[in-house]
Amino acid sequence: MKPEELVSRVQRALVANGFAEAIAAPIARSITACERDGTLSHGLLRLPGFVDAVRTGWADGKAMPVEVSRSPSMLVLDAMNGFTHYALENARGSIMAKASRTGSAILLIRNAHHFAALWPDIEGFAREGFIAFSCVTSRARLTAWSGGGPVFGTNASAFACPRAQGDPVVWDQATSIMSQGDLLLAAKDGRAIPLDVGVDANGEPTDDPNAILAGGALHPFGSRKGASIAFMVEVLAAGLSGGVFGYESPAQGTMPSKGGQFVMIIDPRRAGADVGTRVEGLVDAVHAAGSPDLPGSRRYRRRAQAFTDGILVSDETMAMLDRLAGA
Ligand code: NDP
Repeated sequence: MKPEELVSRVQRALVANGFAEAIAAPIARSITACERDGTLSHGLLRLPGFVDAVRTGWADGKAMPVEVSRSPSMLVLDAMNGFTHYALENARGSIMAKASRTGSAILLIRNAHHFAALWPDIEGFAREGFIAFSCVTSRARLTAWSGGGPVFGTNASAFACPRAQGDPVVWDQATSIMSQGDLLLAAKDGRAIPLDVGVDANGEPTDDPNAILAGGALHPFGSRKGASIAFMVEVLAAGLSGGVFGYESPAQGTMPSKGGQFVMIIDPRRAGADVGTRVEGLVDAVHAAGSPDLPGSRRYRRRAQAFTDGILVSDETMAMLDRLAGA
């Protein structure tokens, strides 16, 4: 299927289930971008979750973001229990203008749901020449420094920088050793997971993804170092934005969390830095040291292929799209 056709099918499914057209559009683009680039943990797999969140009244699919405050380098929005996508899309021009004037700008979104991938939110900034960093909180799913029960969210963070030649370098990762999306995929496929990924509700190591989903917890990547990153994300995306911390989130089951998003962009032109050219040198060194791929490069290859061959959508997924669109 052509990417643009999938965008409109996803948008139709969302609108049929209580989303306003304008709100549905950027969510449909994000889901399609993930499916197109092979980020399957955050593609069509997530569509029923978005729909359920609005159908059950957990999230508001028609909520318009409200401005809380602004300064020369900061914009704070309340998503009013909606999704971050529309708020971010609408604020994009404004924060780029701020960063161009002052050198950097921060966007904070509170009272919002985000359970998509982060890279679609920031790749565009790097294409406009900015360095970008974003992070989001989610409900408690992650153990802290010494293990125990869940206290932090899986707290995705992502970074993007421009290159003088070629597509931006964009990394995007959960703070958990395995993302919740990959956990859901393993549960769906009935696959066992490595024992160091997480614990069950009794704090015991388990290879059963369902045991982690049913009240257990994931471990942070890199042990205590990942726990520190998760803590930082809680402070930036929840403490600073006015969203709820992972441990405060009332989210249940597969519902998205009511948290916050932090986005910071830097204009390297204000620093007099030719970052794109400097990054090329760094990339050359990475390749010379033996790493053929950069974060994002495998996605770009899949993207190019999807534009040529289309996106493969299974019959089961097509049936799901049709069912949701007819609701
Ligand atoms: P992965 O472990 O799959 O990937 C992490 C990063 O490593 C990616 O940027 C990936 O690049 C890069 N990478 C992987 N392999 C290589 C390689 N061989 N060479 C170079 N780079 C490589 O990500 P996670 O499972 O941790 O996260 C998956 C998704 O889950 C993310 O999109 C994240 O935003 C999302 N998420 C969302 C949350 C939310 O609340 N909204 C919470 C937690 C996670 P590439 O992109 O090219 O694969």
